[in-house]
Amino acid sequence: MSVTTRPDLVSLPGYKPGRSIPGAIKLASNEVPGGPLPSVLSAIADAAAQANRYPDSGAWTLVNRLSEKLGVPADRIAVGCGSVSLCQQLVQSLCEPGDEVLFAWRSFEAYPITTQVANARVVTAPLDASHTHDLGALLAAVTPRTKVLYVCNPNNPTGTVLHREALREFLSKVPPHVLVVLDEAYFEFVTDPEVPDGMEFAREFPNVAVLRTFSKAYGLAGLRVGYAVAPEDVVVALRKVFTPFSVNAVAQAAAVASLDAEDELLARCTEITAERDRVRAALVELGYEIPETQANFVWFPLGERTVEFAEFMLDRKLVVRPFAGEGARVTIGTPSENDTFLDAARAFRDA
Ligand code: PMP
Repeated sequence: MSVTTRPDLVSLPGYKPGRSIPGAIKLASNEVPGGPLPSVLSAIADAAAQANRYPDSGAWTLVNRLSEKLGVPADRIAVGCGSVSLCQQLVQSLCEPGDEVLFAWRSFEAYPITTQVANARVVTAPLDASHTHDLGALLAAVTPRTKVLYVCNPNNPTGTVLHREALREFLSKVPPHVLVVLDEAYFEFVTDPEVPDGMEFAREFPNVAVLRTFSKAYGLAGLRVGYAVAPEDVVVALRKVFTPFSVNAVAQAAAVASLDAEDELLARCTEITAERDRVRAALVELGYEIPETQANFVWFPLGERTVEFAEFMLDRKLVVRPFAGEGARVTIGTPSENDTFLDAARAFRDA
């Protein structure tokens, strides 16, 4: 008998990352355009010089710094190799085979993949007509087997948000056996004061977790550090299913140095959000339907024209992220990259 892999994995489409094409402008992966600050680079070099040693597997310096910053106890914080790893760890920690993971669709493409890899069942509820989470539809889809319910706020790829009171009311109605995971990968780009800080809810509700990442606002996508704030017993499980040492020493040092340089990094986010608002207004002016966005990207619900749009951009050396048949997501870059994109968007409209 020959070696076989799990039949369900054979048919599972893997995660398809945004493409990097030499010489092209990459607006495909919601990265920030600026590289690490000098102070972060220096911490990276110091940590790399000790790469003969294993990292601190618990990332305790980072966990304690996050605990101070967020005002939550360290035993409620788990780090992961990017928050995408924590998605997988959460399902592994909470779901037995056949248990359900519920989320709005379309949302972050790793939710269905990490769910299926962990032998759990994907259940989705559609976004509403304004490309926003339909909280009523999500509540209606909860069953006794629902173990995890993701709410991505702002939502990837639409950029849309949920406001504080709507979310609080929703959380008060979710049955207590369901862990609601507020995925706040784009939290630092939010400028709308009505959008809550999920930490408020993680303190208030015993079944709420929050996911954050150093990949976006903190500019460390290439180093892979994310974290979850979750109920204590969930954190114990998350640490058990963690691949030992998978948040490496360089990544840990860079994350701690980024917390030290937070003011400077958040000032960079302010430039990005100003650009986001400029780009969206210009696109609306061009006649595109672009949902209001609170993240560092804009969503084009182009339906059947999505692939044509992405190819048109690629011909102009602009890499965007198409979701065939649905829409394209375009990350906010530098002002000049954004101008190049806006020119191309005008040309597509006129073509
Ligand atoms: N959540 C959302 C909503 C995302 O968009 C992403 C990255 N695209 C992640 C989580 C994962 O980010 P990372 O693994 O780099 O922390």
